Amino acid sequence: DQLDTPQTGVIVSRFGQHCDVESEDGKIRRCNSRRTIESLVTGDKVIWRAYKQADESSGLGGVVEVVQPRTSELCRPDFYDGLKPVAANIDQILIVTSVLPAFSSQIIDRYLVASENIEIEPVIVLNKTDLLDDATRQEIAPVLENYRKLGYRVLEASSLTFEGLEPIRTALIDRISVFVGQSGVGKSSLINSLLPEAEEVIGDVSSNSGLGQHTTTAAKLLHLPGGGDLIDSPGVREFALWHLEPERVTWCFRELRELIGGCRFRDCKHGDDPGCIIREKVELGEISQLRYDNYHHILTTMDSDKPKRQRPL
Ligand code: GDP
Repeated sequence: DQLDTPQTGVIVSRFGQHCDVESEDGKIRRCNSRRTIESLVTGDKVIWRAYKQADESSGLGGVVEVVQPRTSELCRPDFYDGLKPVAANIDQILIVTSVLPAFSSQIIDRYLVASENIEIEPVIVLNKTDLLDDATRQEIAPVLENYRKLGYRVLEASSLTFEGLEPIRTALIDRISVFVGQSGVGKSSLINSLLPEAEEVIGDVSSNSGLGQHTTTAAKLLHLPGGGDLIDSPGVREFALWHLEPERVTWCFRELRELIGGCRFRDCKHGDDPGCIIREKVELGEISQLRYDNYHHILTTMDSDKPKRQRPL
C-alpha cells in the first residue's frame, strides 16, 4: 500500500479536482479526493492519508477519503445544482455595514434572515465610524439599539483609524467566521487590518480590473494571529438571501418567531388583517416598525430572489 495511516485534517482551499489539506501539525499538502466524495469545500473536516512517498510528478501529497458531516454550509446559486455549497462549518457571520455606501437596515435584515435561516450566529459590524457625524449617529443609534435588544451583537469599528478592532479580534477567537456585506462597506479593509501583511486578501471584484475572479478565486481558510479562523473569497462575501417560504421568513425574524400561529386566521399574511398578532404588537410598539417594514419588503421581493440561474460562459 502506498498510503500512510488515516489522519484528520481541514480543507483550507479547494480548486478543481484538488484541495489543500491542513493536518493537525499545521502542515499543508495538496491532495486528490476519492471519487466517492460528492462535495468538498473549504472548511470541511476530513479524514485523509498521505502518500508514503510524495508523488513528485503531480506534486500531490495524499488522498482525502472521508468528509465529516458539516455543522453548517454557505451556499451560492449554481446553474446546474440550484444551491451549491462554497464553505462549510462556519459558526459566525460578520455582517459589515457602513455609512458609505449609505446605512441600510433593509440590507442588514436581509443578511440577518439569511444567517438565521442557516442557523449561524450573525454579528453586525458598523465600519467607517470615522465618517459618522452627529446627525447620522443619531439616526443610526436607535436602529442598532433595537438589534442589541433582539440579542444581536453589534460592534463598531473603523479600519481606517483602527478604532474598535480589538472587540472584533476577540469576537473571532475560537470560531470560523466569514465577512459579508455590500460592496464598498470595507470588508477587505477590515480583514486586512486583522491579518499579517503577508496574508492580505484581494479586494472586491468591482474594485479590481481583472475579470472572472468570481469563478477563479477559491475560498481560503485563514488563521488569525489573535486566534480564530476566517474563510474568505469573493463567492463567500456574496452570501445572500435566496428563496425562502414566507413562513420561514417569519421564523427568521427573531421577534416574530414566537408569534407564529398566534393570529386569528391560520393563513394570516401579517398585513393589515384584523386579528393579526404581529400587526397588533407593532401598533403597541413592542415590535419595531422598521423591522416590520423590512419583513414585508423581504416577503414581497422574495420571488425575485430566486437563485439566478446563469449559464456558465
Ligand atoms: P469591500 O468592497 O467591502 O471589501 O470594501 P473595501 O475594503 O474595498 O473598502 C471600500 C472603500 O472604503 C475603500 O476605498 C477603503 O479605503 C474605504 N474604507 C474601508 N474602511 C474604511 C473606514 O473605516 N473608514 C473610511 N473612511 N474608509 C474606509
